[in-house]
Amino acid sequence: MKALVYLGPEKLAFGDADYPIHKNGDVIIKVNSVGICGSDMHAYLGHDERRPAPLILGHEVAGTVVGGDKDGQRVTINPLVTCGNCPACTSGRDNLCPDRQIISMPPREGGFAEFVAIPASNIVHVPDDFQLEKASLAEPIACGWHAARLAQRAVIKDLSEVRALVIGGGAIGVGVALSLSCFGVSDVTILEPNVGRRQYLLQTTQIPVIDPDDLDDKNQIDLVIDAVGYAQTREVASRAVNPGGVIMHIGLGAAEGGLDIRRMTLQEITFIGTYTYTAADFISTSQAMFQGKLGSLDWIETRPLSEGAKAFADIRQGAVPASKIVLKP
Ligand SMILES: [Zn+2]
Ligand SMILES: [Zn+2]
Repeated sequence: MKALVYLGPEKLAFGDADYPIHKNGDVIIKVNSVGICGSDMHAYLGHDERRPAPLILGHEVAGTVVGGDKDGQRVTINPLVTCGNCPACTSGRDNLCPDRQIISMPPREGGFAEFVAIPASNIVHVPDDFQLEKASLAEPIACGWHAARLAQRAVIKDLSEVRALVIGGGAIGVGVALSLSCFGVSDVTILEPNVGRRQYLLQTTQIPVIDPDDLDDKNQIDLVIDAVGYAQTREVASRAVNPGGVIMHIGLGAAEGGLDIRRMTLQEITFIGTYTYTAADFISTSQAMFQGKLGSLDWIETRPLSEGAKAFADIRQGAVPASKIVLKP
């Protein structure tokens, strides 16, 4: 089969690769659409020791089942594979399973390919009238859905009265904003420094998007979501959140710096780390998408998988206004 293979820092090659190994309980998916994630970029730059070359990256996949009793079914896939038996899995926090695997990390190859293997229990059926390009957004949006669900438990006010600020207008940030709206938060603003992306989001979503320089009302936000995760963005979050407020942290940019722990202590600010989504979150997100509750999902750009290397380079240069590039094998 053809695949886009990661060969080392900033090196991707489109060429022949082995057909995926079919483990017990797996199904093979013929990939229709696969999104480029921030974590793929991280690996591409050589910053992720968990993803050593050579490797097929990509975990945001929609496609059709090949063979078996579901042959031809259109699906989106939950790429997180968990054990199902440990305390985390049995208490509904399966995203924290110590044995979790994700496709695109050994031993599982990823979805920048014609075919990918995934346990049958990880596939979610996509209705006939819903585009597979958009169905591949279930994974990044589920991260936002999960964060919105955890935030809901931590904020003191009724969600309809909450002022929320999302830092970062990539797919994770947009997914959080759409999820919060779906949960009943009416006042959601995205902070995005890239002017091209700001304009793009104003045209393709209904969400207010502003330049970080225009954020004048400090200490007045009930809920700040950092969907970037660098010292600089955590600093913004620490400043923007109001006394008694909540900071949700999704971004995996850099490990340290930026939080004003003294202010957080004196003002009783809650900090919540959030990682991926549970299997239940993934299904809820997919259903909300299919029912149109997360908007028209027009903030994606599609390109051929064969031109994937250029797409990575363009994202690296900040030259992509769309919040998500979806590659098509
Ligand atoms: Zn992702
Ligand atoms: Zn487990």
